[in-house]
Amino acid sequence: MNLHETPSVFFPFDNSYARLPDRFFAKLTPSPVRAPQLIRLNEALAEHLGLDPESLSSPEGIEILSGNRVPEGAEPLAMVYAGHQFGNWVPQLGDGRAILLGEVIDRDGVRHDIQLKGSGHTPFSRMGDGRAVLGPVLREYIVGEAMAALGIPTTRALAAVTTGEQVAREQLLPGAILTRVAQSHVRVGTFQFFAARGDEEALRLLADHVINRHYPDASGSDHPYRALLDAVIARQAQLIARWQLIGFIHGVMNTDNMSIAGETIDYGPCAFMDTYHPETVYSSIDQMGRYAYANQPRIAQWNLAVLAQSLLPLFGDDEDVAVAQAQDSINRFPGLLEAAYLSGMRAKLGLVQERAGDTKLAHDLLNCMAENKADFTLTFRGLCDVSAADPEADAAVRGLFEDPVAFDCWAGRWRERLDQEGNSDDMRQTAMRAVNPAYIPRNHLVAEVIKAATENGNFALLEKLMTVLASPYEERPEYARYRIPPRPEQVVHETFCGT
Ligand code: AMP
Ligand code: MG
Repeated sequence: MNLHETPSVFFPFDNSYARLPDRFFAKLTPSPVRAPQLIRLNEALAEHLGLDPESLSSPEGIEILSGNRVPEGAEPLAMVYAGHQFGNWVPQLGDGRAILLGEVIDRDGVRHDIQLKGSGHTPFSRMGDGRAVLGPVLREYIVGEAMAALGIPTTRALAAVTTGEQVAREQLLPGAILTRVAQSHVRVGTFQFFAARGDEEALRLLADHVINRHYPDASGSDHPYRALLDAVIARQAQLIARWQLIGFIHGVMNTDNMSIAGETIDYGPCAFMDTYHPETVYSSIDQMGRYAYANQPRIAQWNLAVLAQSLLPLFGDDEDVAVAQAQDSINRFPGLLEAAYLSGMRAKLGLVQERAGDTKLAHDLLNCMAENKADFTLTFRGLCDVSAADPEADAAVRGLFEDPVAFDCWAGRWRERLDQEGNSDDMRQTAMRAVNPAYIPRNHLVAEVIKAATENGNFALLEKLMTVLASPYEERPEYARYRIPPRPEQVVHETFCGT
């Protein structure tokens, strides 16, 4: 090989899902696209996965990231699953526009799926074209990477390419493909698919695969499948608590969009709240507010009950006992979530000790924010600046409230509570700034990036936004524009699936 040539692309694939029986997937290759161009490669993630960023961004790499070439060792397949969409049962869904290339093991020994999203027709495409549009691909890239930087479990974006083709939606839009990385793409809906068919053998194989891959501790339990359910419930409780604490609204919490590994997955019409209100909904397809911010914990429990139901055949022959066990597990979810939420909320408020009135103190702040249309992110970040000794330092944060006096009332109680902690302001402020971000992917910022990319092929704003969001807790004067809420004319009221 010529020393100046880029090394050819190498993925150290080890494809455990592809070794499951044929009825778990359809094997097929991605459909080629006309003129792929790389938008962005996540170099740090590539390196973490043991991939070479330079070769991935070479022409050969771009051919792979666009589905025009299947890399050595890949076993491309579309996974089958079912699901409840907005509560309605759909017996067969599956990857309609995504193809799993294979799995690699990262530098920490964690296995990851490498999937192309938007890579063409599959047997599960139903009426869809198997393609993805640039806007939603950028949204998933931005929001997913922002979540990762915020420390919230999520699928990741390895790369995005444009395809050089137009995709027909309400209008013609540029096509794109996201390369997505997940601990796995097994969903609640994957279990539902086999449970609904009474295919107990497949159910067991799937459960064993998941235990092996994500919950190895469960295999040592007396009841591995019950331990599996409990472990999934625990991870989801942590995850949903994190969403609530950061003001994230998923938008489409269908059972087929809930990951068994406990990662945030399938970013569609998702959004971060600007002004706090518990009933906030952005998704244009969520007319009833089923997936509104405040409903997310309840919906997660509903989805987990569906998972429990699907696992019942593995819980033993005595149906009554199995149902009672599953019910017991499900009933523990609200308590787990509440505990994770309260512990996170204490940290957001700078409280280390646990006191009985803390839940009420937090709820009263949130109510006051809702009544006074305060910005969620700025309020908590603003509290970091408040100094317990000096009421004057309240000015910025109290100005976020329509009636600043309402904030003053609450702040008085908060100060009394802080006094009981006995920590220095400095320590408290540093700790609070590590959990209350200054920067989130605000909708108007995401919309601005998508508009520039779609209308002008301009990706400079994307690069800038990704830089800002990579260090969400670290405030920089030069990023002031990224911190502030939208002006009235910039407010995004609705987000779309883009399917
Ligand atoms: P989502 O709303 O992205 O979670 O997708 C729900 C289901 O519709 C999944 O089975 C997808 O694979 C499928 N789907 C979404 N968009 C398309 C598309 N453009 N072509 C084919 N299938 C799609
Ligand atoms: Mg989905």
